[in-house]
Amino acid sequence: MNQYDEEVIEKFRLSGKILRETREEMRGFVREGMSILQVCEKAEELIRKKGGKPAFPCNVSINEVAAHYTSPLNDEHRIPEKAIVKVDLGVHVDGYVTDTAFTVCFDLAYAGMQTAAEHALNTAIGNIHAGMATSKIGEIIEKSIRNRGFKPISNLTGHSVGRYLIHAGTSIPNVAQLSFTKVQAGEVYAIEPFVTTPDAIGRVEDGPEVTIFRLVKAKSVKNPYARKLLDYIEENYRTLPFAERWLKGVVPADKHREAFNELYRSKALMGYPVFIEASRKPVVQAEHTVLITEDGCEVLT
Ligand code: MN
Ligand code: MN
Repeated sequence: MNQYDEEVIEKFRLSGKILRETREEMRGFVREGMSILQVCEKAEELIRKKGGKPAFPCNVSINEVAAHYTSPLNDEHRIPEKAIVKVDLGVHVDGYVTDTAFTVCFDLAYAGMQTAAEHALNTAIGNIHAGMATSKIGEIIEKSIRNRGFKPISNLTGHSVGRYLIHAGTSIPNVAQLSFTKVQAGEVYAIEPFVTTPDAIGRVEDGPEVTIFRLVKAKSVKNPYARKLLDYIEENYRTLPFAERWLKGVVPADKHREAFNELYRSKALMGYPVFIEASRKPVVQAEHTVLITEDGCEVLT
């Protein structure tokens, strides 16, 4: 458990403020037909301009893709017409991570589903307080979603955040489940309901693509360009996720592919596969990061 002191909480607050401003600017930026790379780069540029650092690559996950898609190198994908677009953003200030997400529905048929996700998030925020069991929060989220006629994604969860850690050990489920873990005052959590249609399976599975990576272990590698990439990753991203496009220019372009592949093969890096709804139904998401207080919470984002 991480209970933070006042100085650290100020860093979380600053991180959350940068993220909130970025999210609100991005909400008005995303358009049908726009390149996904442009969305990612805009968000990450805004975060840096405001004095934060991206805690992970901007995720732009579309329709049945629930999470974990960011633009790979030279991405040419565009936001399709009538897309359900989830933009998931993270900031860190001195390692202190905040995490938020919003959904843009270009198909108005799913507006009610989006409202259900936002309502579930707000209901969880309105009820959470020190001493509440994480299972109770999951129950509140699930009920709120089902009352509106939709289905939660049962195998995606919120999470405690920490210094240079996106997932700091405790999960906040989106469904009722057996757990005796309780949230405590001074802890920081991301709460993130994912919602799909009532006829969906309501679970995600790993897709074939991997666009987000993380350093696992700084192994000894023979290829000097792989070594250089590894040093750069350790220095700049530590244990936080990154995108391959963030490594552009670190080694000569014609050496990059082989060097990166060697790191991945040697398991110095791990990859996060994209998450796809198992029955290929569209998914919406809402997310905030909160600081738990004795009688409630403070929304940081
Ligand atoms: Mn997130
Ligand atoms: Mn999260």
